[in-house]
Amino acid sequence: MDHYRIGRQRSDARGEQDVLNVTDPATNRLVASVVKSGDSGVDAAVSVASEAVEAWQGFDPAERGRVLRQIADRLRDETDRLARVETAETGRPISTSRHLVASAADYFDYYAGLTDKVEGETIPVPGDRLNYTVREPLGVTGHLVPWNASLLLGARSIAPAMASGNVVVAKPAPEAPLSLLAFERLAAAAGLPDGAVAVAPGGAETGRALTRHEGVDGLVFTGSRETGKEVMRAAADNVTPVNLELGGKSPSLVFADADVTQAAEDTVGVFSNAGQVCYATTRIFVHEDVYGPFVDALVGLTESLTVGPGVADFDIGPLISRDARDRVAASVDEAVDDGATILAGGRIPEDTDDGNFYEPTLLTDVDDDDPVAREELFGPVATVHEFSSEAEAIQRANDTEYGLYAALWTDSLDRAHRVAGELEAGTVSVNEYPATFPQAPFGGYKESGIGREKGQQALEHYTQLKDVTVQL
Ligand code: NAD
Repeated sequence: MDHYRIGRQRSDARGEQDVLNVTDPATNRLVASVVKSGDSGVDAAVSVASEAVEAWQGFDPAERGRVLRQIADRLRDETDRLARVETAETGRPISTSRHLVASAADYFDYYAGLTDKVEGETIPVPGDRLNYTVREPLGVTGHLVPWNASLLLGARSIAPAMASGNVVVAKPAPEAPLSLLAFERLAAAAGLPDGAVAVAPGGAETGRALTRHEGVDGLVFTGSRETGKEVMRAAADNVTPVNLELGGKSPSLVFADADVTQAAEDTVGVFSNAGQVCYATTRIFVHEDVYGPFVDALVGLTESLTVGPGVADFDIGPLISRDARDRVAASVDEAVDDGATILAGGRIPEDTDDGNFYEPTLLTDVDDDDPVAREELFGPVATVHEFSSEAEAIQRANDTEYGLYAALWTDSLDRAHRVAGELEAGTVSVNEYPATFPQAPFGGYKESGIGREKGQQALEHYTQLKDVTVQL
């Protein structure tokens, strides 16, 4: 992709700090410069969006559904172009980017079918009265999006917000704003009122401007736990409702009665997107009876993964930045200094110094309390631990501040339901990883978040409930 510049040029001289330089993490070469929105850009986007509220809510619900379906169709028609944009700004394998664009389209299809199903209830109250509830849209919703799957995660919250009658101001992460900017143009062409979806690129300052803005009626933040806490504090000033989709340090539990081959084949998926996935099961607990065969299979699969630029569709692309790669490398080195054994990977691959690559890495002999087993590294590193009993596995799996996802592997129906019930996680998958769907709610227990995205449950966050009593 050629280097290009996006955004309105103003007459005043712009300093470096007004521009986001987007680089390809596979080469660290510049692919685009994007003008940051900052306070004034966010103000403008919120103001245009506010003007679009009435027009968008004036669409019949079924008509809104048709527009969302148009967006889904356009996303599918433009899969190749959008996937190239996503790969240029993240370095991700192009086949994964294509899959993510198709999944973004799935969100619009799913919520297109729900626009005319945002229903209320009638409630039997005492006396001669009719009491009913209506779900009303919030108005302008602010969406703070991370870089690890910009288009998909943008779609995940934009589709339900729009389906229930809201307009959107979305702020992509500074590392990867291009795909949402492309989406803004695509969505406008699908028949939305002007400004109903506005994208305000920028960094933390632009994010703060959106979070604090008095014209924003609801917020959804997807990102790290630390930033999420800051967003929640800022939202408190205007009592703005906020949905938080935060990080994880998810466990995978492989029991002695599991299909070990299948468990290993799925578990190697932890390295997908170079491990930069919120629900990645980076803590792998394996029963002592199958520890040897499982680890052998997982190491073999891990070592067969190829690492290289996403445009050439290697299995594992680069980390988002040089800092992120160096942080991951330092964490592995510290773990090894603390006694960890490297089962696979553990190095910066040779001859890849232009990009931010790190080998998919499996560690063992790691204490559950070691930072590498407790902190979200957001890189291609997982730790493998041995356990003896079901109770021990559950206790150790739950011993984390996070609670986004958990996977378990067993042939026993009893155990599957029993352990799924005990795990402190918003999503549990049995004998499969990963397993997430637009139709099924997704979100965190504990410090992995507040509220739910996906499914019909997401509509609750984008609407407020009004109760009406009529004396008859
Ligand atoms: P991040 O927290 O650094 O940034 C997320 C977004 O918030 C970005 O757009 C960023 O510019 C913006 N931001 C930063 N500081 C802000 C502030 N003070 N106020 C308002 N906005 C601000 O996260 P990231 O590095 O972009 O993404 C990686 C993190 O996201 C990981 O922790 C990952 O687990 C998490 N994540 C969670 C989910 C989920 O569904 N739970 C999905 C994907 C990623």
